[in-house]
Amino acid sequence: MVTRRRFLGTVGASALIVGFDPTARAWATSAGSRSVQRIPHLDGVLLTDLPTRQADGRDLGRIVQHLPRAVLRPGSVRDIQKMITFCREHRIPVATRGQGHSTHGQGLTDGLIIENRSLSTIHSIGTDSITVGSGALWREAAHAAAPRGLTPPLFTTYVGLSVGGTLSVGGVPAQNEFGVQIDHVRELEVVTGDGRLHRCSMDRERDLFEVMLGGLGQCGVITRATIDLLPARALARNYMIRYPITETAKVWTDLHILLERKEFDGVYILMSVPDGKNVTYQLNAVVFHNADRTPDDQRLLRGLSAPVSSAEIENSTYLEWVKRYDPVIDAWQRQCAWDDLIKPWFDVMLPGESAQEYVAEVMPTLTARDYGPPTGIGFLFPQRRSKLTRPFFRVPPGNSEWVYLFDILTSSPAPGPDPAFAAEMLERNRRLYDKAKALGGTRYPIGSLDFTRADWRAQYGELWPDLLRRKAKYDPDRILTPGPGIFG
Ligand SMILES: Cc1cc2nc3c(=O)[nH]c(=O)nc-3n(C[C@H](O)[C@H](O)[C@H](O)COP(=O)(O)OP(=O)(O)OC[C@H]3O[C@@H](n4cnc5c(N)ncnc54)[C@H](O)[C@@H]3O)c2cc1C
Repeated sequence: MVTRRRFLGTVGASALIVGFDPTARAWATSAGSRSVQRIPHLDGVLLTDLPTRQADGRDLGRIVQHLPRAVLRPGSVRDIQKMITFCREHRIPVATRGQGHSTHGQGLTDGLIIENRSLSTIHSIGTDSITVGSGALWREAAHAAAPRGLTPPLFTTYVGLSVGGTLSVGGVPAQNEFGVQIDHVRELEVVTGDGRLHRCSMDRERDLFEVMLGGLGQCGVITRATIDLLPARALARNYMIRYPITETAKVWTDLHILLERKEFDGVYILMSVPDGKNVTYQLNAVVFHNADRTPDDQRLLRGLSAPVSSAEIENSTYLEWVKRYDPVIDAWQRQCAWDDLIKPWFDVMLPGESAQEYVAEVMPTLTARDYGPPTGIGFLFPQRRSKLTRPFFRVPPGNSEWVYLFDILTSSPAPGPDPAFAAEMLERNRRLYDKAKALGGTRYPIGSLDFTRADWRAQYGELWPDLLRRKAKYDPDRILTPGPGIFG
Protein backbone atom coordinates (compact mmCIF):
# COMPACT_ATOMS: atom_id res chain seq x y z
CA MET A 1 0.00 0.00 0.00
CA VAL A 2 1.34 3.40 -0.95
CA THR A 3 1.65 5.62 2.09
CA ARG A 4 0.41 9.17 2.01
CA ARG A 5 3.95 10.52 1.97
CA ARG A 6 5.02 8.28 -0.92
CA PHE A 7 1.79 9.02 -2.73
CA LEU A 8 2.23 12.75 -2.41
CA GLY A 9 5.73 12.37 -3.67
CA THR A 10 4.77 10.46 -6.79
CA VAL A 11 1.67 12.12 -8.17
CA GLY A 12 1.25 15.30 -10.16
CA ALA A 13 0.87 18.70 -8.56
CA SER A 14 -2.91 18.72 -9.09
CA ALA A 15 -3.30 16.05 -6.43
CA LEU A 16 -0.98 17.44 -3.73
CA ILE A 17 -3.57 17.70 -1.01
CA VAL A 18 -2.43 18.90 2.35
CA GLY A 19 -5.69 19.91 3.90
CA PHE A 20 -9.20 21.21 3.62
CA ASP A 21 -10.11 24.87 3.51
CA PRO A 22 -13.46 25.15 5.29
CA THR A 23 -13.94 28.72 4.14
CA ALA A 24 -13.57 27.86 0.47
CA ARG A 25 -15.13 24.38 1.08
CA ALA A 26 -12.30 22.88 -1.01
CA TRP A 27 -9.23 20.72 -0.61
CA ALA A 28 -6.10 22.80 -0.35
CA THR A 29 -2.77 22.12 -2.02
CA SER A 30 -0.80 24.34 0.33
CA ALA A 31 -1.12 25.03 4.01
CA GLY A 32 -0.46 28.72 3.30
CA SER A 33 -3.86 30.00 4.30
CA ARG A 34 -4.53 30.11 8.04
CA SER A 35 -7.89 28.51 7.66
CA VAL A 36 -6.54 25.34 6.00
CA GLN A 37 -7.05 22.29 8.22
CA ARG A 38 -4.39 19.65 7.65
CA ILE A 39 -5.60 16.18 6.72
CA PRO A 40 -4.47 13.53 9.19
CA HIS A 41 -1.55 11.22 8.45
CA LEU A 42 -2.87 8.16 6.60
CA ASP A 43 -1.60 4.63 6.05
CA GLY A 44 -3.42 4.61 2.70
CA VAL A 45 -4.07 7.36 0.17
CA LEU A 46 -6.45 10.22 -0.40
CA LEU A 47 -6.99 10.77 -4.12
CA THR A 48 -8.38 13.84 -5.81
CA ASP A 49 -7.43 13.22 -9.45
CA LEU A 50 -10.34 13.51 -11.87
CA PRO A 51 -10.30 9.98 -13.35
CA THR A 52 -10.52 8.38 -9.87
CA ARG A 53 -13.29 10.75 -8.79
CA GLN A 54 -15.20 10.21 -12.04
CA ALA A 55 -14.95 6.42 -11.69
CA ASP A 56 -16.39 6.65 -8.18
CA GLY A 57 -18.90 9.29 -9.24
CA ARG A 58 -21.24 6.74 -10.82
CA ASP A 59 -22.55 3.25 -10.13
CA LEU A 60 -23.67 0.33 -12.25
CA GLY A 61 -27.06 1.95 -12.88
CA ARG A 62 -25.49 4.77 -14.93
CA ILE A 63 -28.42 7.01 -13.96
CA VAL A 64 -27.13 9.14 -11.08
CA GLN A 65 -23.78 10.94 -10.96
CA HIS A 66 -22.12 12.75 -8.06
CA LEU A 67 -18.50 13.73 -8.40
CA PRO A 68 -16.84 13.15 -5.01
CA ARG A 69 -14.42 15.75 -3.71
CA ALA A 70 -11.95 13.01 -2.79
CA VAL A 71 -11.54 9.25 -2.65
CA LEU A 72 -9.97 7.42 0.28
CA ARG A 73 -8.22 4.13 -0.36
CA PRO A 74 -7.73 3.18 3.27
CA GLY A 75 -4.53 1.45 4.32
CA SER A 76 -6.10 0.61 7.66
CA VAL A 77 -9.32 0.88 9.63
CA ARG A 78 -7.66 3.78 11.47
CA ASP A 79 -7.66 5.71 8.17
CA ILE A 80 -11.43 5.38 8.03
CA GLN A 81 -11.76 6.58 11.62
CA LYS A 82 -9.48 9.54 10.98
CA MET A 83 -11.17 10.64 7.77
CA ILE A 84 -14.69 10.25 9.17
CA THR A 85 -13.68 12.36 12.17
CA PHE A 86 -12.13 14.93 9.82
CA CYS A 87 -15.18 14.97 7.53
CA ARG A 88 -17.55 15.29 10.47
CA GLU A 89 -15.64 18.30 11.71
CA HIS A 90 -15.98 19.95 8.30
CA ARG A 91 -19.48 18.66 7.48
CA ILE A 92 -18.26 16.72 4.45
CA PRO A 93 -20.61 13.87 3.53
CA VAL A 94 -19.09 10.39 3.34
CA ALA A 95 -20.16 7.22 1.54
CA THR A 96 -18.58 3.79 1.35
CA ARG A 97 -18.15 2.07 -1.98
CA GLY A 98 -18.10 -1.70 -2.22
CA GLN A 99 -18.29 -2.79 -5.85
CA GLY A 100 -20.55 0.14 -6.78
CA HIS A 101 -23.18 -2.28 -8.11
CA SER A 102 -26.14 -0.32 -6.78
CA THR A 103 -28.21 1.20 -9.57
CA HIS A 104 -29.53 4.55 -8.30
CA GLY A 105 -26.74 6.42 -6.52
CA GLN A 106 -27.17 4.65 -3.15
CA GLY A 107 -23.40 4.76 -2.54
CA LEU A 108 -22.55 8.10 -4.21
CA THR A 109 -21.75 11.47 -2.67
CA ASP A 110 -20.14 14.76 -3.63
CA GLY A 111 -18.08 14.53 -0.43
CA LEU A 112 -15.67 11.71 0.42
CA ILE A 113 -15.90 8.19 -1.03
CA ILE A 114 -14.28 5.42 1.01
CA GLU A 115 -13.31 2.61 -1.34
CA ASN A 116 -13.32 -0.40 0.89
CA ARG A 117 -11.95 -2.86 -1.65
CA SER A 118 -8.56 -2.53 0.05
CA LEU A 119 -10.11 -4.04 3.21
CA SER A 120 -10.47 -7.48 1.67
CA THR A 121 -8.33 -9.61 3.97
CA ILE A 122 -9.62 -13.03 4.97
CA HIS A 123 -8.76 -12.65 8.66
CA SER A 124 -9.60 -16.10 9.97
CA ILE A 125 -11.48 -19.29 9.19
CA GLY A 126 -12.73 -21.49 12.00
CA THR A 127 -14.78 -24.67 12.05
CA ASP A 128 -18.07 -22.77 11.78
CA SER A 129 -17.31 -19.15 10.92
CA ILE A 130 -15.17 -16.90 8.76
CA THR A 131 -14.00 -13.35 9.48
CA VAL A 132 -13.39 -11.16 6.43
CA GLY A 133 -12.68 -7.54 5.62
CA SER A 134 -15.84 -5.86 4.30
CA GLY A 135 -14.25 -5.25 0.90
CA ALA A 136 -13.84 -8.98 0.26
CA LEU A 137 -16.07 -10.37 -2.47
CA TRP A 138 -18.45 -13.26 -1.72
CA ARG A 139 -16.60 -15.25 -4.37
CA GLU A 140 -13.39 -14.80 -2.34
CA ALA A 141 -15.10 -15.89 0.89
CA ALA A 142 -16.40 -19.01 -0.90
CA HIS A 143 -12.93 -19.85 -2.21
CA ALA A 144 -11.32 -19.30 1.18
CA ALA A 145 -13.74 -21.65 2.95
CA ALA A 146 -13.86 -24.37 0.27
CA PRO A 147 -10.53 -26.14 1.02
CA ARG A 148 -11.89 -26.92 4.52
CA GLY A 149 -15.08 -28.35 3.11
CA LEU A 150 -17.03 -25.32 4.39
CA THR A 151 -19.18 -22.60 2.84
CA PRO A 152 -21.07 -19.47 3.81
CA PRO A 153 -24.69 -20.65 3.97
CA LEU A 154 -26.10 -18.22 1.37
CA PHE A 155 -25.00 -16.36 -1.73
CA THR A 156 -26.52 -13.71 -3.96
CA THR A 157 -26.91 -14.80 -7.59
CA TYR A 158 -23.77 -12.89 -8.56
CA VAL A 159 -20.81 -13.29 -6.22
CA GLY A 160 -18.69 -10.39 -7.48
CA LEU A 161 -20.38 -8.18 -4.85
CA SER A 162 -18.65 -7.01 -1.68
CA VAL A 163 -19.50 -8.45 1.72
CA GLY A 164 -20.04 -4.93 3.11
CA GLY A 165 -22.27 -4.00 0.16
CA THR A 166 -24.69 -6.92 0.46
CA LEU A 167 -24.77 -6.85 4.28
CA SER A 168 -25.83 -3.22 4.01
CA VAL A 169 -28.88 -4.20 1.94
CA GLY A 170 -29.74 -7.74 3.07
CA GLY A 171 -28.39 -10.20 0.51
CA VAL A 172 -31.33 -12.26 -0.77
CA PRO A 173 -30.27 -15.70 -2.02
CA ALA A 174 -31.83 -18.35 -4.25
CA GLN A 175 -32.15 -20.57 -1.15
CA ASN A 176 -35.40 -20.41 0.79
CA GLU A 177 -35.02 -21.99 4.22
CA PHE A 178 -32.26 -19.99 5.90
CA GLY A 179 -33.27 -16.35 5.63
CA VAL A 180 -30.98 -13.86 3.91
CA GLN A 181 -27.25 -13.21 4.24
CA ILE A 182 -27.60 -10.78 7.16
CA ASP A 183 -29.30 -13.52 9.19
CA HIS A 184 -25.93 -15.33 9.26
CA VAL A 185 -23.71 -12.55 10.57
CA ARG A 186 -22.27 -13.16 14.04
CA GLU A 187 -20.24 -10.05 14.61
CA LEU A 188 -19.34 -6.81 12.88
CA GLU A 189 -16.56 -4.29 13.23
CA VAL A 190 -17.96 -0.84 12.46
CA VAL A 191 -16.70 2.74 12.33
CA THR A 192 -19.63 4.98 13.23
CA GLY A 193 -20.30 8.52 11.98
CA ASP A 194 -18.47 9.98 15.00
CA GLY A 195 -15.26 8.14 14.03
CA ARG A 196 -15.47 5.57 16.85
CA LEU A 197 -14.61 1.90 16.29
CA HIS A 198 -17.04 -0.75 17.59
CA ARG A 199 -17.34 -4.49 17.70
CA CYS A 200 -20.97 -5.42 17.79
CA SER A 201 -23.15 -8.53 17.81
CA MET A 202 -26.49 -9.63 19.25
CA ASP A 203 -24.84 -9.69 22.72
CA ARG A 204 -22.76 -6.56 22.43
CA GLU A 205 -24.00 -3.17 21.17
CA ARG A 206 -27.05 -4.81 19.65
CA ASP A 207 -28.51 -1.41 18.81
CA LEU A 208 -25.66 -0.81 16.36
CA PHE A 209 -25.43 -4.40 15.11
CA GLU A 210 -29.09 -4.42 14.07
CA VAL A 211 -29.02 -1.09 12.30
CA MET A 212 -25.93 -2.04 10.30
CA LEU A 213 -27.54 -5.21 8.89
CA GLY A 214 -29.69 -4.07 5.98
CA GLY A 215 -29.33 -0.52 7.32
CA LEU A 216 -28.03 1.01 4.05
CA GLY A 217 -24.84 2.34 5.65
CA GLN A 218 -26.76 5.01 7.56
CA CYS A 219 -25.02 4.60 10.93
CA GLY A 220 -21.52 3.40 10.13
CA VAL A 221 -18.99 1.75 7.86
CA ILE A 222 -18.69 -2.02 8.20
CA THR A 223 -14.98 -2.83 8.17
CA ARG A 224 -15.04 -6.51 9.14
CA ALA A 225 -17.68 -9.23 9.40
CA THR A 226 -17.82 -12.67 11.00
CA ILE A 227 -20.17 -14.93 9.08
CA ASP A 228 -21.46 -18.48 9.69
CA LEU A 229 -19.91 -21.38 7.81
CA LEU A 230 -21.59 -24.72 7.16
CA PRO A 231 -20.26 -28.01 5.81
CA ALA A 232 -20.42 -27.82 2.00
CA ARG A 233 -21.47 -30.59 -0.31
CA ALA A 234 -19.25 -31.15 -3.33
CA LEU A 235 -21.77 -31.14 -6.17
CA ALA A 236 -24.92 -29.43 -7.38
CA ARG A 237 -27.68 -30.61 -9.70
CA ASN A 238 -29.92 -27.86 -11.04
CA TYR A 239 -33.28 -28.59 -12.69
CA MET A 240 -34.83 -26.03 -15.03
CA ILE A 241 -38.43 -26.21 -16.26
CA ARG A 242 -39.91 -23.58 -18.58
CA TYR A 243 -43.49 -22.27 -18.63
CA PRO A 244 -45.04 -19.70 -20.99
CA ILE A 245 -45.88 -16.32 -19.52
CA THR A 246 -49.60 -17.18 -19.62
CA GLU A 247 -49.06 -20.00 -17.10
CA THR A 248 -48.35 -18.09 -13.90
CA ALA A 249 -50.80 -20.32 -12.00
CA LYS A 250 -49.01 -23.51 -13.08
CA VAL A 251 -45.51 -22.31 -12.32
CA TRP A 252 -46.72 -20.97 -8.97
CA THR A 253 -48.31 -24.29 -8.01
CA ASP A 254 -45.18 -26.22 -9.01
CA LEU A 255 -42.95 -23.74 -7.19
CA HIS A 256 -44.92 -24.29 -3.99
CA ILE A 257 -45.00 -28.06 -4.31
CA LEU A 258 -41.21 -28.00 -4.34
CA LEU A 259 -40.89 -25.37 -1.60
CA GLU A 260 -43.22 -27.14 0.82
CA ARG A 261 -41.51 -30.51 0.38
CA LYS A 262 -38.14 -29.01 1.42
CA GLU A 263 -36.25 -31.57 -0.65
CA PHE A 264 -34.32 -28.96 -2.64
CA ASP A 265 -31.64 -26.57 -1.41
CA GLY A 266 -32.98 -23.68 -3.44
CA VAL A 267 -36.06 -23.01 -5.57
CA TYR A 268 -36.65 -19.81 -7.52
CA ILE A 269 -38.05 -18.47 -10.78
CA LEU A 270 -35.98 -16.77 -13.46
CA MET A 271 -37.95 -14.71 -15.97
CA SER A 272 -36.08 -14.67 -19.27
CA VAL A 273 -36.53 -14.17 -22.99
CA PRO A 274 -34.73 -17.18 -24.47
CA ASP A 275 -35.88 -16.56 -28.07
CA GLY A 276 -35.53 -12.78 -27.84
CA LYS A 277 -39.33 -12.34 -28.12
CA ASN A 278 -41.37 -14.26 -25.59
CA VAL A 279 -40.93 -13.89 -21.85
CA THR A 280 -40.74 -17.28 -20.15
CA TYR A 281 -40.83 -18.41 -16.53
CA GLN A 282 -38.01 -20.79 -15.73
CA LEU A 283 -38.47 -22.72 -12.50
CA ASN A 284 -35.02 -23.48 -11.08
CA ALA A 285 -34.54 -26.07 -8.36
CA VAL A 286 -31.11 -27.02 -7.10
CA VAL A 287 -30.05 -29.89 -4.90
CA PHE A 288 -26.57 -30.10 -3.38
CA HIS A 289 -25.09 -33.58 -2.92
CA ASN A 290 -21.93 -35.59 -2.61
CA ALA A 291 -20.70 -38.09 -5.19
CA ASP A 292 -22.02 -41.05 -3.18
CA ARG A 293 -25.66 -39.82 -3.30
CA THR A 294 -26.89 -39.13 -6.81
CA PRO A 295 -30.21 -37.26 -6.77
CA ASP A 296 -33.25 -39.22 -7.91
CA ASP A 297 -34.79 -37.01 -10.65
CA GLN A 298 -38.10 -38.88 -10.83
CA ARG A 299 -38.67 -38.67 -7.10
CA LEU A 300 -37.59 -35.04 -6.73
CA LEU A 301 -39.80 -33.78 -9.58
CA ARG A 302 -42.84 -35.98 -8.87
CA GLY A 303 -46.33 -34.52 -9.03
CA LEU A 304 -45.57 -31.34 -10.98
CA SER A 305 -47.76 -30.05 -13.80
CA ALA A 306 -44.74 -30.37 -16.13
CA PRO A 307 -43.43 -33.87 -16.97
CA VAL A 308 -40.06 -34.82 -15.51
CA SER A 309 -38.75 -35.22 -19.07
CA SER A 310 -39.30 -31.48 -19.68
CA ALA A 311 -36.68 -30.56 -17.09
CA GLU A 312 -33.30 -29.52 -18.36
CA ILE A 313 -30.63 -30.75 -15.94
CA GLU A 314 -27.28 -29.12 -15.23
CA ASN A 315 -24.65 -30.88 -13.14
CA SER A 316 -21.76 -28.92 -11.67
CA THR A 317 -19.52 -28.68 -8.67
CA TYR A 318 -20.99 -26.75 -5.74
CA LEU A 319 -18.54 -23.87 -6.32
CA GLU A 320 -19.44 -23.71 -10.01
CA TRP A 321 -23.09 -23.40 -8.96
CA VAL A 322 -22.20 -20.59 -6.51
CA LYS A 323 -20.44 -18.75 -9.37
CA ARG A 324 -23.02 -19.68 -12.03
CA TYR A 325 -23.78 -16.07 -13.02
CA ASP A 326 -20.10 -15.02 -13.32
CA PRO A 327 -19.83 -16.30 -16.93
CA VAL A 328 -23.22 -14.75 -17.74
CA ILE A 329 -22.10 -11.30 -16.58
CA ASP A 330 -18.73 -11.75 -18.34
CA ALA A 331 -20.54 -12.56 -21.60
CA TRP A 332 -22.88 -9.56 -21.23
CA GLN A 333 -19.89 -7.30 -20.58
CA ARG A 334 -18.23 -8.54 -23.79
CA GLN A 335 -21.32 -8.71 -26.00
CA CYS A 336 -23.30 -5.56 -25.20
CA ALA A 337 -21.04 -3.31 -23.10
CA TRP A 338 -23.29 -4.25 -20.17
CA ASP A 339 -21.47 -2.09 -17.61
CA ASP A 340 -22.39 1.03 -19.61
CA LEU A 341 -26.04 0.22 -20.20
CA ILE A 342 -28.50 2.21 -18.10
CA LYS A 343 -30.04 -0.12 -15.49
CA PRO A 344 -33.25 1.16 -13.95
CA TRP A 345 -33.77 -2.02 -11.95
CA PHE A 346 -37.01 -2.61 -10.10
CA ASP A 347 -36.91 -4.58 -6.84
CA VAL A 348 -39.75 -5.10 -4.42
CA MET A 349 -40.68 -7.50 -1.62
CA LEU A 350 -44.17 -8.91 -2.07
CA PRO A 351 -46.44 -10.48 0.55
CA GLY A 352 -47.48 -14.12 0.06
CA GLU A 353 -51.15 -13.20 0.02
CA SER A 354 -50.97 -11.19 -3.21
CA ALA A 355 -47.63 -11.98 -4.88
CA GLN A 356 -49.01 -14.36 -7.49
CA GLU A 357 -51.73 -11.93 -8.55
CA TYR A 358 -49.19 -9.08 -8.76
CA VAL A 359 -46.71 -11.06 -10.86
CA ALA A 360 -49.47 -12.39 -13.14
CA GLU A 361 -50.64 -8.82 -13.81
CA VAL A 362 -47.24 -7.20 -14.23
CA MET A 363 -45.36 -9.72 -16.36
CA PRO A 364 -47.59 -9.54 -19.47
CA THR A 365 -47.31 -5.72 -19.47
CA LEU A 366 -43.53 -5.82 -20.00
CA THR A 367 -42.19 -5.26 -23.49
CA ALA A 368 -38.76 -5.57 -25.09
CA ARG A 369 -38.08 -2.01 -23.91
CA ASP A 370 -38.48 -3.19 -20.31
CA TYR A 371 -35.84 -5.90 -20.50
CA GLY A 372 -33.20 -4.72 -22.99
CA PRO A 373 -30.51 -6.63 -24.86
CA PRO A 374 -29.41 -9.36 -22.41
CA THR A 375 -31.95 -12.18 -22.28
CA GLY A 376 -32.33 -12.29 -18.50
CA ILE A 377 -35.19 -10.16 -17.28
CA GLY A 378 -35.75 -10.89 -13.61
CA PHE A 379 -36.09 -13.13 -10.62
CA LEU A 380 -38.62 -14.24 -8.06
CA PHE A 381 -36.98 -15.42 -4.84
CA PRO A 382 -39.34 -16.94 -2.24
CA GLN A 383 -38.27 -16.52 1.39
CA ARG A 384 -39.74 -17.88 4.61
CA ARG A 385 -40.88 -14.93 6.72
CA SER A 386 -40.06 -16.76 9.97
CA LYS A 387 -36.37 -16.96 9.02
CA LEU A 388 -35.97 -13.22 8.43
CA THR A 389 -34.71 -11.95 11.77
CA ARG A 390 -33.20 -8.52 11.12
CA PRO A 391 -35.55 -5.59 11.75
CA PHE A 392 -34.11 -3.15 9.21
CA PHE A 393 -34.60 -5.60 6.35
CA ARG A 394 -38.15 -4.53 5.64
CA VAL A 395 -40.63 -7.19 4.67
CA PRO A 396 -44.33 -6.79 3.92
CA PRO A 397 -46.70 -7.36 6.82
CA GLY A 398 -49.05 -10.33 6.53
CA ASN A 399 -49.87 -13.78 7.80
CA SER A 400 -48.45 -15.78 4.92
CA GLU A 401 -45.24 -17.62 5.73
CA TRP A 402 -43.90 -16.68 2.29
CA VAL A 403 -42.59 -13.34 1.06
CA TYR A 404 -41.01 -12.86 -2.36
CA LEU A 405 -38.31 -10.69 -3.81
CA PHE A 406 -39.47 -9.71 -7.31
CA ASP A 407 -36.85 -8.08 -9.58
CA ILE A 408 -37.01 -6.69 -13.10
CA LEU A 409 -33.46 -6.20 -14.34
CA THR A 410 -34.09 -3.66 -17.08
CA SER A 411 -31.26 -2.33 -19.21
CA SER A 412 -31.19 0.26 -21.97
CA PRO A 413 -31.01 -0.74 -25.67
CA ALA A 414 -27.54 0.77 -26.07
CA PRO A 415 -24.66 2.00 -23.90
CA GLY A 416 -24.29 5.69 -23.11
CA PRO A 417 -26.53 8.37 -21.62
CA ASP A 418 -30.25 8.23 -22.47
CA PRO A 419 -32.13 10.52 -20.09
CA ALA A 420 -35.49 9.87 -21.81
CA PHE A 421 -35.13 6.11 -21.28
CA ALA A 422 -34.08 6.57 -17.66
CA ALA A 423 -37.02 8.90 -16.99
CA GLU A 424 -39.50 6.55 -18.66
CA MET A 425 -38.30 3.57 -16.61
CA LEU A 426 -38.18 5.50 -13.35
CA GLU A 427 -41.80 6.43 -13.98
CA ARG A 428 -42.59 2.74 -14.66
CA ASN A 429 -40.81 1.73 -11.45
CA ARG A 430 -42.81 4.23 -9.47
CA ARG A 431 -46.02 2.87 -10.95
CA LEU A 432 -45.05 -0.72 -10.16
CA TYR A 433 -43.91 0.24 -6.67
CA ASP A 434 -47.20 2.04 -5.92
CA LYS A 435 -49.11 -1.02 -7.09
CA ALA A 436 -46.98 -3.29 -4.86
CA LYS A 437 -47.24 -0.93 -1.91
CA ALA A 438 -51.03 -0.93 -2.17
CA LEU A 439 -50.80 -4.69 -1.58
CA GLY A 440 -48.42 -4.28 1.37
CA GLY A 441 -45.17 -4.57 -0.62
CA THR A 442 -41.91 -2.99 0.56
CA ARG A 443 -38.94 -1.71 -1.40
CA TYR A 444 -35.76 -3.77 -1.63
CA PRO A 445 -33.51 -0.74 -1.94
CA ILE A 446 -30.92 -1.95 -4.46
CA GLY A 447 -32.79 -0.71 -7.52
CA SER A 448 -33.83 2.58 -9.08
CA LEU A 449 -36.74 4.44 -7.60
CA ASP A 450 -37.34 8.09 -6.76
CA PHE A 451 -38.16 7.88 -3.07
CA THR A 452 -39.24 10.78 -0.87
CA ARG A 453 -38.73 11.10 2.87
CA ALA A 454 -42.42 10.19 3.25
CA ASP A 455 -41.77 7.01 1.27
CA TRP A 456 -38.88 6.12 3.58
CA ARG A 457 -41.04 6.80 6.61
CA ALA A 458 -43.64 4.42 5.20
CA GLN A 459 -40.94 1.86 4.38
CA TYR A 460 -39.73 1.78 7.98
CA GLY A 461 -43.25 2.05 9.43
CA GLU A 462 -43.24 1.55 13.20
CA LEU A 463 -39.41 1.44 13.15
CA TRP A 464 -39.08 5.00 11.83
CA PRO A 465 -38.67 6.72 15.27
CA ASP A 466 -36.19 4.01 16.24
CA LEU A 467 -34.19 4.58 13.06
CA LEU A 468 -34.09 8.33 13.78
CA ARG A 469 -32.87 7.59 17.30
CA ARG A 470 -30.10 5.26 16.12
CA LYS A 471 -29.05 7.71 13.41
CA ALA A 472 -28.76 10.49 16.01
CA LYS A 473 -26.75 8.19 18.29
CA TYR A 474 -24.26 6.84 15.76
CA ASP A 475 -24.12 9.51 13.06
CA PRO A 476 -25.05 12.67 14.98
CA ASP A 477 -24.14 15.07 12.19
CA ARG A 478 -25.75 12.94 9.49
CA ILE A 479 -22.67 12.78 7.30
CA LEU A 480 -22.96 9.11 6.30
CA THR A 481 -24.41 7.69 3.09
CA PRO A 482 -26.67 10.47 1.78
CA GLY A 483 -27.40 8.55 -1.47
CA PRO A 484 -30.72 6.96 -0.51
CA GLY A 485 -32.05 10.34 0.75
CA ILE A 486 -33.62 8.85 3.87
CA PHE A 487 -33.10 11.87 6.09
CA GLY A 488 -33.71 14.55 3.47
C1 LIG B 1 -25.37 -8.76 -11.23
C2 LIG B 1 -26.00 -8.48 -9.90
C3 LIG B 1 -26.69 -9.49 -9.25
C4 LIG B 1 -27.27 -9.25 -8.02
N1 LIG B 1 -27.92 -10.27 -7.39
C5 LIG B 1 -28.48 -10.07 -6.18
C6 LIG B 1 -29.12 -11.12 -5.48
O1 LIG B 1 -29.19 -12.24 -5.95
N2 LIG B 1 -29.64 -10.84 -4.26
C7 LIG B 1 -29.53 -9.61 -3.69
O2 LIG B 1 -29.99 -9.44 -2.58
N3 LIG B 1 -28.94 -8.60 -4.33
C8 LIG B 1 -28.41 -8.80 -5.56
N4 LIG B 1 -27.80 -7.76 -6.20
C9 LIG B 1 -27.80 -6.43 -5.58
C10 LIG B 1 -26.63 -6.26 -4.64
O3 LIG B 1 -26.73 -7.14 -3.54
C11 LIG B 1 -26.58 -4.84 -4.06
O4 LIG B 1 -26.67 -3.88 -5.05
C12 LIG B 1 -25.29 -4.66 -3.26
O5 LIG B 1 -25.42 -3.54 -2.44
C13 LIG B 1 -24.12 -4.48 -4.19
O6 LIG B 1 -22.92 -4.70 -3.52
P1 LIG B 1 -21.72 -3.70 -3.79
O7 LIG B 1 -20.51 -4.29 -3.16
O8 LIG B 1 -21.62 -3.34 -5.22
O9 LIG B 1 -22.24 -2.47 -2.92
P2 LIG B 1 -22.28 -0.91 -3.29
O10 LIG B 1 -23.21 -0.68 -4.42
O11 LIG B 1 -20.90 -0.40 -3.42
O12 LIG B 1 -22.93 -0.35 -1.94
C14 LIG B 1 -24.28 -0.59 -1.64
C15 LIG B 1 -24.72 0.33 -0.49
O13 LIG B 1 -24.09 -0.08 0.72
C16 LIG B 1 -23.22 0.93 1.20
N5 LIG B 1 -22.02 0.23 1.62
C17 LIG B 1 -21.16 -0.48 0.84
N6 LIG B 1 -20.20 -1.01 1.60
C18 LIG B 1 -20.44 -0.64 2.88
C19 LIG B 1 -19.80 -0.87 4.13
N7 LIG B 1 -18.68 -1.60 4.20
N8 LIG B 1 -20.31 -0.33 5.24
C20 LIG B 1 -21.45 0.41 5.19
N9 LIG B 1 -22.10 0.68 4.03
C21 LIG B 1 -21.60 0.15 2.90
C22 LIG B 1 -22.98 1.86 0.03
O14 LIG B 1 -22.67 3.17 0.46
C23 LIG B 1 -24.30 1.79 -0.69
O15 LIG B 1 -25.25 2.61 -0.07
C24 LIG B 1 -27.20 -7.97 -7.44
C25 LIG B 1 -26.51 -6.95 -8.10
C26 LIG B 1 -25.91 -7.21 -9.31
C27 LIG B 1 -25.17 -6.10 -10.00
